[in-house]
Amino acid sequence: MVIWPHYRHPESGSATIRSTIDSYNERYQREQVNVMKKNVAIIGAGFSGAVIAHQLAKAGHQVEVFESRSHIAGNCYSERDAETNVMVHVYGPHIFHTDNERVWKFVNEFAEFKPFVNRVKAITNDRVFTLPINLLTINQFFNKTFRPAEAQAFLAEQGDKTIENPVTFEDQALRFVGRDLYEAFFKTYTVKQWGLQPSELPASILKRLPVRFNYDDNYFSHKYQGMPKDGYTAIVEKILNVPGITVHLNTPFKPEQKSAYDHVFYSGPIDAWFGHRDGRLPYRTLDFEVHRDQGDYQGNAVINYCDNAKPYTRITEHKHFSPWEQHEGTVCYFEYSRQCEEGDTPYYPIRLARDKVQLEKYVRLAQDEPNVTFIGRLGTYRYLDMDVTIDEALKVADKFLACATENSQMPAFVIDPLA
Ligand code: UDP
Repeated sequence: MVIWPHYRHPESGSATIRSTIDSYNERYQREQVNVMKKNVAIIGAGFSGAVIAHQLAKAGHQVEVFESRSHIAGNCYSERDAETNVMVHVYGPHIFHTDNERVWKFVNEFAEFKPFVNRVKAITNDRVFTLPINLLTINQFFNKTFRPAEAQAFLAEQGDKTIENPVTFEDQALRFVGRDLYEAFFKTYTVKQWGLQPSELPASILKRLPVRFNYDDNYFSHKYQGMPKDGYTAIVEKILNVPGITVHLNTPFKPEQKSAYDHVFYSGPIDAWFGHRDGRLPYRTLDFEVHRDQGDYQGNAVINYCDNAKPYTRITEHKHFSPWEQHEGTVCYFEYSRQCEEGDTPYYPIRLARDKVQLEKYVRLAQDEPNVTFIGRLGTYRYLDMDVTIDEALKVADKFLACATENSQMPAFVIDPLA
């Protein structure tokens, strides 16, 4: 298919030339709409679905978004607490951080981001430390006054050098921070969080956290970090507010309905699309015990509880995510992790080697499913941060627009879930 080049009016020119160009432009627009306009269904109104809907609608496609929950924004959903007016991250803490220029530019079109640096504290053995492990953590924990190079040499001594190629979470920890720090900060927290021993989990989970030999206690190492001034729901609402997008809340979508659309983007759990025919892929879910109080409950947004003295993994005090606001009252979430059962909200895909075998079966089924693309954390069964989710959604939309132009088949996955 040939796409007509877009012509602009020249600054000067005769009336005849202008009218020729006008009719050329009209023809171009007609051709473009006739050839390219597609009816698309997007399942899920989280970041993945909303970003794809936005990009496609802006390009002239007709998009219907089906959301089974009563709200948009998926697990990023935030709302003001009715009693205290504090902005609450209803599905747990979400801090926006990225190195990706395209993503940062994209989100800033829809929200004012306020500066926010996540500085996590950790309680273990009745003492408070800073995370991620940094020079202050090391000095306080070992009761030392090391300078950076000394701390680095000390930790190298602590590390198990016989582990050359760490595969598991435990290997990674023992190799790079040694047994004492591993047992104090990671071992028990990880069992509480994942319900598995760190020796069963992949090293990639621990690789999310840096170890620093300076006093930088920023939990993230990305160039951009911030909090949307009016919460995440407001961003997603703006992303979806484009002519050509219709959003249906409280509306589950059944695979049989797909024949009414040219293409479907599905951000629900991949195994659910296939009726769990090869069994349920395992997830962790979270429960939040809500505690309301007056004043300042814990003095920080997030405090992790790394040992068994408490059954919860962390406490989030939501008002500290909006330090530019003033509130008398406060809302805290005590966070508990457990296995996700039928009817629970899936949060973290577990992705053990044995889950991968099951995932492979679903990936093969998906590849045989025409006109459906599986997207996002649940559709591709991966542990994704918000920025990666948005980046991938932008790439999925780019691919769809390119396929529509070339009249080629949109694949089931744009990012390989098995990679
Ligand atoms: N982790 C830990 N202790 C902590 C914080 C994290 O053992 O105090 C481990 C835990 O296994 C967790 C992983 O590191 O799942 C990644 O931590 P992150 O803070 O990125 O988890 P998230 O905020 O995504 O739940």
